[in-house]
Amino acid sequence: MKPFTYERAATPAEAAAAAARGTGTRFIAGGTNLLDLMKLQIETPTHLIDVNGLALDTIEPTEEGGLRIGALVSNTDLATDARVRRDYGLLARALLAGASGQLRNKATTAGNLLQRTRCPYFYDTNQPCNKRHPGSGCAAIGGVTRQLGIVGTSEACIATHPSDMAVALRALDATVETVRADGAARAIPMADFHRLPGDTPHIETALEPGELITAVVLPKPLGGRHVYRKVRDRASYAFALISVGAVIQPDGTGRVALGGVAHKPWRVEEAETAMPRGGRAVTERLLAGARPTRENAFKITLVERTLDAVLAEARG
Ligand code: SF4
Repeated sequence: MKPFTYERAATPAEAAAAAARGTGTRFIAGGTNLLDLMKLQIETPTHLIDVNGLALDTIEPTEEGGLRIGALVSNTDLATDARVRRDYGLLARALLAGASGQLRNKATTAGNLLQRTRCPYFYDTNQPCNKRHPGSGCAAIGGVTRQLGIVGTSEACIATHPSDMAVALRALDATVETVRADGAARAIPMADFHRLPGDTPHIETALEPGELITAVVLPKPLGGRHVYRKVRDRASYAFALISVGAVIQPDGTGRVALGGVAHKPWRVEEAETAMPRGGRAVTERLLAGARPTRENAFKITLVERTLDAVLAEARG
């Protein structure tokens, strides 16, 4: 691991201002992804700002009838909160499908959103990777692509976002609250928070330099049946080949978002009008324009069949 300096921030605004002062600065909370990346020298920050003391670890009701989830709420505390389990079952189920119990105890809400891709070439420092070293190329294109993206990909990167939680937050239309380096707050819809790779796959979110996530806000509950299905190569502690997060109303209408197919949680609102007609009709719209490789074209059929299973489960 490369040497780095370390400080504890006293307030969110102070943390954001301190982070914007240097180029090699990173925030650290649970550290469940960042520390691994530092040991592998994929991330080499020169300065860490510890945000664990920022009192952002509560879940509070909002005036609009939703919930404000502090950025430092652990994945375990969020998944087991009685209000989340009752009103946002999709979120609780997605969280419990991710990682392991030990990791969920340490991983935070903000950190979960900001975790990096699990593309194997990103972790192999002997391979070119535009996300790790912009302009170096992409070893995954033409390589082993079974786990990688099928939609929204680019000539520069075909990686997927690994978060289960983010899929649920996208389906629920959550908002990410932040504080910028100048102390100003802003709210970013989940739809705009993660970026597609384009020519700049190293820029993964809408966050500006130094900008700190302070909370995630859920709108008032949608009702309906909440289902999260994650299809993976082993039953636990594995990232999704694909995942389907859905909220389905008694009349068959609803919302659906996918994990494991794109550089961001994947949702196409227009596709949801086809939900009463079944998985194939939704998938045709949801994955229109998909450019799978020969190795991962199976994901299209897998999405279709998993959606059918989710719709059947919601019908009871
Ligand atoms: Fe890197 Fe993206 Fe290519 Fe993977 S797919 S090697 S993360 S540029």
